[in-house]
Amino acid sequence: MINLDDPKKFKPLVGQAHQVAMNMLRPISRKYDHGEHEYPQELDMLAAMVDGLSESGASGGAGASGVRRDEGGTEEKTPTGTRNGANLASVLSILEMCWGDVGLLLSMPRQGLGNSAIASVADAEQSERFAGVWAGMAITEPGVGSDSANIKTTARLDGDEYVLNGEKIYVTAGGRADHIVVWASLDRDLGRAAIKSFVVPKGTPGMRVDRLEHKLGIRASDTATIIFEDCRVPAANLLGSPEVDTKQGFAGAMATFDNTRPLVAAMAVGCARASLDLTRDLLAKAGVEVDYDRPAVVQSAAAAKLLQMESDWEGAYLLMLQAAWMADNRQPNSLEASMAKAKAGRVGSDITLSCVELAGSVGYGEAELLEKWARDSKILDIFEGTQQIQQLIVARRVLGLSSGELK
Ligand SMILES: Cc1cc2nc3c(=O)[nH]c(=O)nc-3n(C[C@H](O)[C@H](O)[C@H](O)COP(=O)(O)OP(=O)(O)OC[C@H]3O[C@@H](n4cnc5c(N)ncnc54)[C@H](O)[C@@H]3O)c2cc1C
Repeated sequence: MINLDDPKKFKPLVGQAHQVAMNMLRPISRKYDHGEHEYPQELDMLAAMVDGLSESGASGGAGASGVRRDEGGTEEKTPTGTRNGANLASVLSILEMCWGDVGLLLSMPRQGLGNSAIASVADAEQSERFAGVWAGMAITEPGVGSDSANIKTTARLDGDEYVLNGEKIYVTAGGRADHIVVWASLDRDLGRAAIKSFVVPKGTPGMRVDRLEHKLGIRASDTATIIFEDCRVPAANLLGSPEVDTKQGFAGAMATFDNTRPLVAAMAVGCARASLDLTRDLLAKAGVEVDYDRPAVVQSAAAAKLLQMESDWEGAYLLMLQAAWMADNRQPNSLEASMAKAKAGRVGSDITLSCVELAGSVGYGEAELLEKWARDSKILDIFEGTQQIQQLIVARRVLGLSSGELK
């Protein structure tokens, strides 16, 4: 029998994350939407609590650095011999936190996308050395977005150091994080295989945060431009192998996305859940009851629309669970991670905007958070690979075509 209930062992974690979202994130949500670039200092206490839970083991390994998957699996197996591990714990808790506020979740100290990159690729020595850092992830450049294989930032080996030169834009938490994971090319003539990631501590000479962006949504999250000019980092800060393996191509660097795309899917699913819950309550106040046990066609247009959105949401939720579960069970999940990200990113934007529509002027005004969630969710269909790029990846994998054959 298929059991679609969340694993029982994660119930306390999910319950705690929901409480935090409701009691700590929601109350400050609008404050930091208005106060763009203001540091949400309330998160320091929350981050300390998350650290405490991780150290005690109560978090089930959830969080940005919980996505490692090469340890042979220390989690207890279920009676069917499978594992419900840190990846599942992470998506379930991120979903709840984003029911509270996506921008604030993205601003949580020590939970950056760079932390997930370190967890995915670092060796044992690096994992220990970079434990407890807060790392942003710098891939995008002026003129290089979806086509990340064309990165122009360079890393030249000089003695036992790499010298980085280039400009990175739209780095989430780039202003606040204390480390940045930077993608740079060892040799631009060797193409995508020469792209490696480097951990650069803030304060390293030659690295500077140039400016912060003003944005449509997730305004609590700082988004930075970072310049590297003859910035020297120890050679030991290169993540993964320094060898340029043209046969393996881009696979090493891209492996991070198999772990992070389900997390971004969870953000979209959480934000959409918030919109659906509030819209259902607002409809009930307006006298429209949604009956989940009766066909949509015999209900009012508003109730039918909500039910259609609920089914879209369920599809995204299940794909998110599948991608994370496969990671927990050391199964290749590139296809499923992209499917989850594509579905959740699209459904998240559709649902949050449709909820604004269903609630009318109440949805559009700032008295409720519906308009904010519609703004916040859009980015989740853009970063970590846009909707179109996820669909391209899915098509390539399903049709068995290479990136050269299907562009
Ligand atoms: C708020 C915010 C936070 C971000 N955080 C980070 C971060 O932390 N680190 C980081 O490195 N980057 C980050 N980014 C950058 C983000 O990942 C890029 O914006 C994204 O990858 C898209 O790149 P682009 O903006 O250059 O768009 P482009 O790649 O120029 O794409 C423009 C449009 O063309 C479509 N398109 C492109 N190629 C194809 C194709 N082959 N087929 C069909 N359609 C295509 C795209 O889907 C999109 O709709 C962030 C961006 C924002 C706005």
